[in-house]
Amino acid sequence: MNRLNGYSGNSIYHNLNPEETTFIERVQEFAECEVLPNTREWEENKSFPDNIWTKLAEIGLLNMSIPDSNGEHVSCKAYVEACRILAQNDPALAMNVAAINALCITHIIHLATPEQKDKYLDAISKGKIKLAWALTEPDAGSDARRVSTRATFIEDKPGYVHLNGEKMFITNGGKADLIIVIARVNDKELSAFLMETNQPGFEIVERIHTIGVQASNTVRFKLTNALAWHTPCTFEQAISFLGKGRLGIAAMALGIAEKAFQLTVEYSKSREQFNRKLCDMQSVQNMIADSAVDLESARLLLYKGAELYDKKEDVTMAAAMAKLYASETANRCTNRAIQVHGGRGMTFKHLVEKLWRDAKLTEIGEGCSEIQRLIISKQFCK
Ligand SMILES: Cc1cc2nc3c(=O)[nH]c(=O)nc-3n(C[C@H](O)[C@H](O)[C@H](O)COP(=O)(O)OP(=O)(O)OC[C@H]3O[C@@H](n4cnc5c(N)ncnc54)[C@H](O)[C@@H]3O)c2cc1C
Repeated sequence: MNRLNGYSGNSIYHNLNPEETTFIERVQEFAECEVLPNTREWEENKSFPDNIWTKLAEIGLLNMSIPDSNGEHVSCKAYVEACRILAQNDPALAMNVAAINALCITHIIHLATPEQKDKYLDAISKGKIKLAWALTEPDAGSDARRVSTRATFIEDKPGYVHLNGEKMFITNGGKADLIIVIARVNDKELSAFLMETNQPGFEIVERIHTIGVQASNTVRFKLTNALAWHTPCTFEQAISFLGKGRLGIAAMALGIAEKAFQLTVEYSKSREQFNRKLCDMQSVQNMIADSAVDLESARLLLYKGAELYDKKEDVTMAAAMAKLYASETANRCTNRAIQVHGGRGMTFKHLVEKLWRDAKLTEIGEGCSEIQRLIISKQFCK
């Protein structure tokens, strides 16, 4: 049994087509050879290397959401599998790949005009245009409808607006060439806009440093009459991609938890106290058993959500359940991992402390756990 893939084994592979299987094998090799060995350095530098986007493109991680000439694209099952594998090796990179595919590229595929797709998609798939998605503001977090960034249509430039406002906690915001900005068009309605960052109206206010996912470039930025191109859509359409996004964050959480579990089991077999291995002590065995059940449950919820998405069914509740359970699993499993490592678990020599810090994001980003519970309970209390 491959412990990183759990009790049920490598189950998602059975549902992937041959091209997807080859793609996932490529992701696995890249993650093991080029991601894991660098994860500490990227965290210390608080940055990924500049060529990361072209590398991601070469592997297929930036065009997996873009349909090919036959209209086919990589399934959601393969997308979550790619995010899960990346997260086992570098959670911050997994978060970027998950969000950029689900929230940015999927938005452009479904909502951009043909002219917009012609201008941007090819360069995006090659990693030459870097992306970010900006909803959150200083006064609009969980209550996303409070967005106050204003979009004012320009009379003699149809389809274009000037944006004014401030966005906060934007992943890859300081590196992006193109940002999808959610903004208010009038008192009641919000919509989405494509904004190129190489203009004076776009200004980074602050690089935000977080306890986890530190290599990810998280920023706060200000917009002053920034020129942007409308992707005609309602607010509901613009945020509908959070379904796929949350499955991506659930996969990220699962990958973190799986890695922490693997390290826990290995350490418990190597460390001896009271003339016994830790793995022979019942309290440690209980932690291992609890983590194994958590992992298996998170995996099943995630795969169910991905399967529903591929069947074009509504994933609102499935994605909320998968994200809620997987993110809490990641936090429980990384906490147990440190416990089993004892004092060493709190040192920078052991990866479990980093996984524990990285795990926290999964309970907050793309809707905190309380919001996921709200979404789930609403389905029953309509
Ligand atoms: C590293 C990182 C990357 C991010 N990347 C992006 C990005 O790329 N794009 C983007 O737009 N945003 C991004 N975010 C923002 C993220 O989505 C928000 O932080 C999140 O939605 C929560 O909003 P908030 O931080 O304003 O918390 P608040 O909304 O102020 O909530 C604070 C706390 O209050 C509680 N709470 C709030 N509402 C409720 C409720 N209705 N019921 C019960 N409890 C409630 C919860 O415990 C919650 O954690 C990122 C955040 C982080 C930390």
